[in-house]
Amino acid sequence: MKLSKPTVITIQPDKLWQITLRFPPLIGVPTNCWLWNGGDGLTLIDCGCPNHGEEIVKISQDIGAIKRVIITHAHPDHAGAAAAISRALNVPVFAHEKETDFLSGKKTIHNETGSLICRCVLWFAHNIGFNVPKVENLAQLKGEQEIEGLQILHTPGHTPGSISIFAPSIQSLFCGDNLDNLHGKPALGQLWCTLDKDTRNSSLGQFDKLDANRLLAGHGRPYESNTLPTELKKLISTTSI
Ligand SMILES: [Zn+2]
Repeated sequence: MKLSKPTVITIQPDKLWQITLRFPPLIGVPTNCWLWNGGDGLTLIDCGCPNHGEEIVKISQDIGAIKRVIITHAHPDHAGAAAAISRALNVPVFAHEKETDFLSGKKTIHNETGSLICRCVLWFAHNIGFNVPKVENLAQLKGEQEIEGLQILHTPGHTPGSISIFAPSIQSLFCGDNLDNLHGKPALGQLWCTLDKDTRNSSLGQFDKLDANRLLAGHGRPYESNTLPTELKKLISTTSI
């Protein structure tokens, strides 16, 4: 599958870079991953599709050494290259304890209970071979944990072990697919790929307590606003209407 070139943008000098990886135009929107410098090498947050591994490794070499990978959730456009990168660089892949079975191949998400549409989409992806290759070097995360200056929040619903990540030193919130920024402002993550909408909606309430002014979604550009907490609160309140 031929992909157009990825783009790399410095979000915060010496601290944070965004890599945007292109899907073929008819398959989907671009997907983001992030390189975070928390002091002990680079942390790769999410890692694109199964065939993006080589590109990510090549890009990261100009910035620093990836020491670990953190996966927001086990969908193939976020965790697809985890196995290849982990093997190539001999680094661990961190995921929430409720997500690691999907990465180790013990379970498949489309067999979980939840939205039928979402399960059908995931079943179809699985059956055309758009999967997450089995990760060997896995490490489990729990919510309320900190790694390299990153606060891990368990925000289930999109998948059972979806996490969001807050970097307080740069007031930035990585929200995975809980929210997106495809149309110039934050929006709720797409329902067709969300397993449990109600659980996702209540997970979003955790964002209230965060002093964030930058939202970094799995899809779309970074969104910066000094009134982000208020905007998110308003958006989240629409889920209860
Ligand atoms: Zn997803």
